[in-house]
Amino acid sequence: MCGIVGYIGKRDAYDVLIQGLHRLEYRGYDSAGIALGRADGSMSVYKSRGKVADLEASVAGKDIEGTIGIAHTRWATHGEPNDVNAHPHVSQSKAIALVHNGTIENYAVLKKAIEQHGYKFVSETDTDVLVQLIDYVKQTNGCTLFDAVKEALRQVEGAYAIAVMEKGKPDMLVAARKSSPLVIGIGKGETFIASDATPIVGYTDKVVYLKDNEIALVKRAGRWR
Ligand code: GLU
Repeated sequence: MCGIVGYIGKRDAYDVLIQGLHRLEYRGYDSAGIALGRADGSMSVYKSRGKVADLEASVAGKDIEGTIGIAHTRWATHGEPNDVNAHPHVSQSKAIALVHNGTIENYAVLKKAIEQHGYKFVSETDTDVLVQLIDYVKQTNGCTLFDAVKEALRQVEGAYAIAVMEKGKPDMLVAARKSSPLVIGIGKGETFIASDATPIVGYTDKVVYLKDNEIALVKRAGRWR
């Protein structure tokens, strides 16, 4: 299980997220990635095998604007370490991006079921199954991202800490955990998500440790559910 950082606020999310990933490097990892959202509804995803420094080099000259984002350092459990298997994973609709620590034990069963609904998988990871499942639930139920995550996680067996972002919704993130830690840091007009407190230290000392099976709707002004 490796590192997660999420940010929603007024600063450049890229700077906060990259600094957070550096602070999580002590855990060891094989690849890194980041998704950034903007007020105009656009979303960029960058991923790279190797170090956080390799990710930084790979985004040179690219659009790194945005005040909301999620980022990850991966320790591969399902699928080799490469750019495609790195997180964030993006849904087939291109609307949802997700980072995940842990392992989805029933991913093969879920994958088979979702494939029958026309979903194709670009990566070899268990995480890819989770983001497509959330997308499928959201589209079939016509519900919010929060409700789709809640419903999808009911079908999941295994361990997870996740941070999820929706394209065109630059005002919220969704975070959830089971058997893998996740911390929310509450600042003034900005909120942080991280797999441990190290990326948050220095910004705020107001932290909330999510409980097992808890889901949070994360906004600039704090955690609302
Ligand atoms: N099981 C996921 C993967 O292989 C997440 C691994 C992790 O916790 O970094 O991509």
